Amino acid sequence: MTLSSFSLEELHGWKDNITANPYRSYLYSYPHKTAYRDLQPPIPLESLWRDEPAESFFLYMHIPFCGARCGFCNLFTLPDKRANVHTTYVDALERQAKQWAAFTRHKPYARFAIGGGTPTLLAADQLRRLFHIAVDTMGLDTRSASISVETSPETITEEKLNILKEYTVDRVSMGIQSFVAAESAAIYRPQNPDEVYRALELLGKYDFPILNLDLIYGLPGQTVDSWLYSLNQTLSYDPEEIFIYPLYTREHTIVKPDDIQRQEDIRLDCYKAAGQLLKARGYRQYSMRRFAKETAGTDKRILDYSCQEEGMVGLGCGARSYTRNVHYASRYGVSRKATESIIADYVSADRYDTADYGIVLSLEEQKRRFILKAILHSEGLRLEDYSLRFGNSLWSDYPELSNLLHSGLGKEEDGVLHLTTEGMGYSDSIGDWFISVEIREQMERFVLP
Ligand code: SF4
Repeated sequence: MTLSSFSLEELHGWKDNITANPYRSYLYSYPHKTAYRDLQPPIPLESLWRDEPAESFFLYMHIPFCGARCGFCNLFTLPDKRANVHTTYVDALERQAKQWAAFTRHKPYARFAIGGGTPTLLAADQLRRLFHIAVDTMGLDTRSASISVETSPETITEEKLNILKEYTVDRVSMGIQSFVAAESAAIYRPQNPDEVYRALELLGKYDFPILNLDLIYGLPGQTVDSWLYSLNQTLSYDPEEIFIYPLYTREHTIVKPDDIQRQEDIRLDCYKAAGQLLKARGYRQYSMRRFAKETAGTDKRILDYSCQEEGMVGLGCGARSYTRNVHYASRYGVSRKATESIIADYVSADRYDTADYGIVLSLEEQKRRFILKAILHSEGLRLEDYSLRFGNSLWSDYPELSNLLHSGLGKEEDGVLHLTTEGMGYSDSIGDWFISVEIREQMERFVLP
């Protein structure tokens, strides 16, 4: 057992601080995109990818269009249904792929994902083109890569699902958020539950190896009972995987923090109730948000890929790319004006061969990223992996992490540091606590265009 870096009193204070406000920021990636800045000088992608140590890569394509912007969404996406706009965008993505393939084709892809936005908002012929680009241009072998596509209830059709089947998609992920029409309306997601049922029936016929459904808790007007109603409706379709998201609102999202503060915060109650129900129904918890059946998987023999998500080749405007020490993307925005202008720059570009916006990760940030990627998932952090990678012991680099052990939010078992079930519920505040001072300052200085 390592020594806590705090006295008992400080430890209590530390835990109170972590548990008093569990929902601070969703550490989807570290560092967050708001820590990215202009890279001066821009970094040539050829050398960046030539030296990338990952054995296999992850190919991601971002489709930054949706039918409408949901009230909680702060992703890089533009409400735009026009087919000609989508075609021009896929043209640009293809140009980008042709240039990037020269830099990345020396390693195979273990994973391929199309996300957004709403990829299935694209017409069937444009959706098919994305797979052509992945296979013919980028060199994806669909037999040895797991393939995942995001969709939405109102955009899936038999024609599009046939394309996903043809390209051996393993996982289809659909955002439902709520089965209660009034709750959907309150987050500006005009969604008729009948539309959701139609989509689920259709998806059931196609029997993809993994069906993932997303739900949100803490919605305006939601109660723990109505949350469990949505969860039970979801369970009746027997999905292999369920993601449950606490509602986050920001000043730049359509639903404002003030709108939520008027009601009691039921998120922790919803989370706990969901955890119990999902466990009782045979789902294993893999992170604060992800629950899945242990049997969920594909029959393919997938290449190994590091769970650290290095070697991520992100095509499209808004996609992030991660090499071991450089993360880069196009600029980030949420407003219509900003996203429109960033997409306009992307589709009019001829050259995509440098990283000009992102962050170069210091050794310190590589360590923090490595730790956060591991401990916020049930697999946890193998202490030996950390020492092998960084040549130091975790406890000597970050003695403050022993607070997890002494507070009961984490535990060390067989040389692996995990969060406990209680700690998993505070993943967002633990993640937020572990952000470095430099990255936090950088994020706070970011001005959203
Ligand atoms: S939450 Fe998803 S569907 Fe809604 S606007 Fe954002 S990207 Fe689009």
